[in-house]
Amino acid sequence: MRNNDWTKILGWPGFRVYRSEINEPAKTLKLWVRRKLGKMGCSGCGRGVREIAEVYEREVRDLPCFEYRTRVVVELYRVRCPDCGVKAEKIPQLPSKAPFRKRFEEAVGESCESAAARRVAKQFGLAASTVRSLDLRYLERWAAQRRKSALRQLGVDEIHLGKKQKFLTVASNLESGEPLWFGRERKKETLDSFFEEALNARQRRGIEAACVDRWEPFRQSLEPWSPQCRMVYDKFHIMQHANRAVDEVRRAEFFRKGGQMRGLVKGKRWLLLTRWVNLTAGKRRQLNELFTLNRRLLKAYLLTESLDRLWDYRYAGAMMRYFKGWLDPLRWQRLTPFQKLADMLVKHLDGILNYCQIKVPLGVVEAINGNIKALLRRGRGYKNLRSLLLKAQRLAATRTEFVAFSKAA
Ligand SMILES: [Zn+2]
Repeated sequence: MRNNDWTKILGWPGFRVYRSEINEPAKTLKLWVRRKLGKMGCSGCGRGVREIAEVYEREVRDLPCFEYRTRVVVELYRVRCPDCGVKAEKIPQLPSKAPFRKRFEEAVGESCESAAARRVAKQFGLAASTVRSLDLRYLERWAAQRRKSALRQLGVDEIHLGKKQKFLTVASNLESGEPLWFGRERKKETLDSFFEEALNARQRRGIEAACVDRWEPFRQSLEPWSPQCRMVYDKFHIMQHANRAVDEVRRAEFFRKGGQMRGLVKGKRWLLLTRWVNLTAGKRRQLNELFTLNRRLLKAYLLTESLDRLWDYRYAGAMMRYFKGWLDPLRWQRLTPFQKLADMLVKHLDGILNYCQIKVPLGVVEAINGNIKALLRRGRGYKNLRSLLLKAQRLAATRTEFVAFSKAA
């Protein structure tokens, strides 16, 4: 094949192939390229420069040509810029010092979107660590050029990583549905470092509302950093607490009694944690059978059902009245887990009522968490938080595996 043809096939704007070498047994192809005549740019200031200080070669990996693994040897110049002195020329196809052409890095990065690093490494014949750093560069380039939405509604949540690593705090933009920052642990100091590292003063002033679960430590951080921000207690989190209370009642009423009672309630946990409207007729019947055996469990379930409707109210006054109506019968029912839940809700009543003024989208935080957990399961690991964050942002932006918002709420 003529060099001219190779130049067309390679498709490297501004460069032409002047030598090629095919190794048939090894199935490799090597192409030597040099620039066509034209102006060179200084990588320091960008101006056109004529004087060459040095010629050198760099070998990079490119996409394969059919079955042939392809490497390209590029002739490069260091130019003498009148302003910057001796500088390397700027080559858009070589975005980093690593031995890969840009489009090769992009192909690897795209593969990493749907497969674990180890699998991509096998596919491209690279070390897994190389794939990871390559993917990180790919994501950094994507993050640098994309538009970022303004932060008006902040979500703060945590992900439990396990006994050793404990918690990961996730700060997210509730309107755009993307994670903004990850921090280890879940203390006041954790959120402090988010405000300090990730936001400037103008961004901190722009936050109108924050949805949090861990009230006290996060309030202590939010108040000084973003005093105008209103805290909204997320429905999703409150319903999680309510579900936990139902589960406690279930265990106290059935499990601790052992034997036959225990068998009756086995496998019914999921039913009890699902809202009535989402159950099929068959499942409703199963629940009703359970309720005829134990009235306290029925009461617990009904309390959760009616608490769920609290967020149907649009006015703080009406919401408040409904909440009082929910609290009153609790006094006579001696359901300790719900008594505890009620105490907590009364304590954070302002945050619950704030929802009437600021309609934060419900369930977004949960959807974001679902994505992060999926990434963790897929073996992204959490040693490199930056990489995990970029990955999760990319997932949110492309919506490739997004958990439906409506379902989460
Ligand atoms: Zn220059």
